Amino acid sequence: MTNRPRESSKGRLVEVAILSKVERTFTYIVGDELADTELDYRRVLVPLGRRLVTGMVIGPGVPVAEVTMKEVRDVLDPEPLITPELLELARFAASYYVAPLGEVLRTMLPPGVNVESYRALELTELGRAAMHNAPDKLERALLALASRGPRSAQSLIKAVHGARHRHLLQMQRQGWIEPIERLKPSVRPRSARVVTLSAEGAELDVEQLVHRAPRQAAVLAALAGGGGRIFAAELARIIGPCAASLRTLRDKGLIEFHNEDAPRGPEACADLAADEPAQLSDEQQMALDQLEPALEKREFRPCLLRGVTGSGKTEIYVRLTQRALELGLSACVIVPEISLTPQLVSRFACRIEGQIAVLHSGLTPSERLASWRSILSGKVRLVIGARSALFAPLRDLGLVVVDEEHETSFKQEDGVAYNARDLALVAARQAGALAVLGSATPSLESLYNVQRGKLEPFVLSKRIDDRPLPEIRVIDMQGRPPDPQGAAPALSDELIAGLENTLRAGRQSILFINRRGSAGFVLCAQCGHVPSCRNCSISLVLHRSTSRLHCHYCDQVQDAPTKCPQCGGTQFVFGPPGTQSVQQQVEELFPKARVLRLDRDTTRGRAGYERALGSFARGEHDVMIGTQMVAKGHDFPNVTLVGVLLADQSLALPDFRAAERTYSQLVQVSGRAGRGDDAGLVLWQTYAPEHYAIKAAAAHDLIGLLDCELQMRREADYPPFGRLALVRLSATSPIKAADYANALAEIARVLARRSAGWIDVLGPAPALVSKVRGRYRWQVLLRGRGTKALSPFVSQLLRRAAKSIKISGVRIQPDVDPISMF
Ligand code: ADP
Ligand code: ZN
Repeated sequence: MTNRPRESSKGRLVEVAILSKVERTFTYIVGDELADTELDYRRVLVPLGRRLVTGMVIGPGVPVAEVTMKEVRDVLDPEPLITPELLELARFAASYYVAPLGEVLRTMLPPGVNVESYRALELTELGRAAMHNAPDKLERALLALASRGPRSAQSLIKAVHGARHRHLLQMQRQGWIEPIERLKPSVRPRSARVVTLSAEGAELDVEQLVHRAPRQAAVLAALAGGGGRIFAAELARIIGPCAASLRTLRDKGLIEFHNEDAPRGPEACADLAADEPAQLSDEQQMALDQLEPALEKREFRPCLLRGVTGSGKTEIYVRLTQRALELGLSACVIVPEISLTPQLVSRFACRIEGQIAVLHSGLTPSERLASWRSILSGKVRLVIGARSALFAPLRDLGLVVVDEEHETSFKQEDGVAYNARDLALVAARQAGALAVLGSATPSLESLYNVQRGKLEPFVLSKRIDDRPLPEIRVIDMQGRPPDPQGAAPALSDELIAGLENTLRAGRQSILFINRRGSAGFVLCAQCGHVPSCRNCSISLVLHRSTSRLHCHYCDQVQDAPTKCPQCGGTQFVFGPPGTQSVQQQVEELFPKARVLRLDRDTTRGRAGYERALGSFARGEHDVMIGTQMVAKGHDFPNVTLVGVLLADQSLALPDFRAAERTYSQLVQVSGRAGRGDDAGLVLWQTYAPEHYAIKAAAAHDLIGLLDCELQMRREADYPPFGRLALVRLSATSPIKAADYANALAEIARVLARRSAGWIDVLGPAPALVSKVRGRYRWQVLLRGRGTKALSPFVSQLLRRAAKSIKISGVRIQPDVDPISMF
């Protein structure tokens, strides 16, 4: 028995996921110093290569033969920072989205919790002795500086004029200084001081103090009013500065101080019953009657709630949340963009008792960490936020709501390419929770899931106050010749007349132009035909550089048409009308109209958009012309005309979801009209009035769209029948990017042949946006005929590529279930 296993002689082992893009997890030894410390689910500092990095302890380590096994240096959290449920979700996401577990965990955790080390130089004893008698003046200066504490080489060189790296190396060789690892500061939760009444203080009769020490009496009275507990800041707001009185009271043992994490929640409303409707509609009541038992039984119940804006969906979310909290469960509500949904947040704040964590991009890292901690502690049981709010470490999750579930912003594009809508269902399944996806225009995937019985449908068929939906007119642009520049005529006579009537009535109009990714679209001005790829059934894109049409999935190239293959027409429309020229035309036609243009050139940042939308909402403009942003956010009750300048644009996108996007975009934009008492009018200009997506949208015929679209997707093996994964890659050298892409596709084809025809490899092709911030972008598209095999295939492909492709400087980013194909 001489060969005792390593772990019993050297202490226990832990498995650590490094919180960065490191492929696998590692086993570390726990040394004597930490032998009695709990480490599970806490961050630790561990050596990796020559650096110290942050990792998360995810369980006991497996003994490995490596002699190089290293020790955990330190533990960074006294309490666990994640829950077992969150780790389980992370493991699922890591394998599904083909990302390292540590990177997934880092994505989930609040930003800034990743502690990193840097190299600093420290003075040695020898150095201290040499400080005054070193021959070189420069060296003496460097030594003097180092004697004040370890510093990075960089900062030493900066601080001493004329100093170079070689001086430092020389001094290191002399043994005067030596490198050590130091930690960069990381975030701390923002904490706030809380004042509580001690047992003795609670018994004191405040009257006794009123005359002798009125300020102390005021403090005690305020505390009594706050139930014996109050934030110091709040106290100061009520009775003014009172630090001295607080100190005296503490010294007398009447009060105590603590520090507590201070999440920044929404302003709570005084009246909890505010805006609570007296009676639910029959449809609302039916949905609630069906769903509440799922909360009570704590069973996984995934459902889709379909209803136009104003049909009472939020009311259902609020009621379910109230019930979940009553039952002692917690709830998570995710929305596409938290800053654009202030009304939704205040609805919850006014109706829910207890603390709410609202996670938005305006929070500082320390505020995020504070929220995180109070969620972990169970103090906060309702979280509202954008996609990352799904990762809040709630315990006993009872309800997950995904509002506007069709929105593409639930998909993260950089880093771990997860889809929060899909992960919400996974989280709910793991927790045995009720999951409600809500939308006026559900995604095709969700509708299909209803068809296959994977989502239970609930429909709110009318608006609460029976406000009519706006009238929709489709304006056929076929045969109207393009303007002299070859661009589509921007405004039809019908739309001009509509603008005139609206202006005369003193109402507002919105003109919508979709420009997203639509630079190179081509269509026949005679019949609206858009050339598409025979392999991939997606629209081809005109490249200025080659004047040819390219397929962005498989890279097939063909000549730009001179004659339309469908009708023989010879006039083509290239690209969308520009917002600026539309503004000019409107101003020329209606010199008195106050026109607001809202696009990337005129409006910067979220604050800029908010300001512009706000001024339009206040009636400071008559016409708003804009891109995507006009479709969201504020309610505009005075808008009675919505014009979509070229409804075909989103149809021409090189994306297999083009028809679905067109449908939902048209419905959403049109919903901007007639929020007030007037029904409103919606005009869509299009070259393809017969296209099924446009016809279905005009008739609000979701089932019609679904039938056509599912048939198309089935034939082409697109989701929801097949699965897609995109491998994006980029490099600063165009040649390296192209070479890597070709090599990657080659390996993919070899592997695909072995997978018995279940995987197609399309491409490589340059990305539609082929250069971003100096990097050239390519992509390889993988299409899986089945739904299971794709993630393991991507994982295998990337491992194989890392081993055998010897091209450096290429960034690779897998995207399973991609949403944006650009
Ligand atoms: P959605 O989320 O579908 O847009 P909301 O829940 O916000 O719909 O409801 C729209 C408006 O109708 C809100 O002002 C809401 O307070 C009100 N509302 C909802 N349900 C009812 C009801 N049963 N009776 C009266 N008003 C209601
Ligand atoms: Zn193609």
